[in-house]
Amino acid sequence: MSTSDCLFCKIRDGKIKADVIFQDDRCLALRDINPQAPTHALVVPKKHIATLNDLAPDDEPLLGHLVVVAAKVAADSGHADSGWRTVFNVNQNAGQTVFHIHLHVLAGRVFAWPPG
Ligand code: 5GP
Ligand code: ZN
Repeated sequence: MSTSDCLFCKIRDGKIKADVIFQDDRCLALRDINPQAPTHALVVPKKHIATLNDLAPDDEPLLGHLVVVAAKVAADSGHADSGWRTVFNVNQNAGQTVFHIHLHVLAGRVFAWPPG
C-alpha cells in the first residue's frame, strides 16, 4: 500500500482528524476511535512501516522510542502502577486492520491472560 492510501499517514499529515494526545519528531499518540479500555491510545511512528515484518535494522531505535512514549501515555493517564498493556497486532491472525505499525496502549481495567 502506498502511504497516500494509509489512514495513519493521513492523520500524520493532518488530512484526517484525530485526538492526538502526544507528538514529537518521530511519533504521535492518538486516542483509538473504538476504545477497548478506558484508556486506549495508539503510538504511531511518523515513518510509514506496514507491519513489524517490514522493520529495517535502522528502525530499532524508533521501536524503542515507541515503547518509551507508550510508558509516558500510561503514566500521564495515571495507570503506571495499576498496570497497562501494549499490543502490536501483525497481519491477519492477530487482527491487524491498519497497515502502518502502531503500538496499542490499553489501561484502566483488568486484562485477561492469555489474550483472546
Ligand atoms: P489494529 O487492528 O490494526 O491493530 O488496530 C487499528 C486500530 O485503529 C483499531 O483499534 C481501530 O479502532 C483504530 N482506528 C481505525 N480507524 C481509526 C481512525 O480513523 N481514527 C482513530 N483514532 N483510530 C482508528
Ligand atoms: Zn502510513
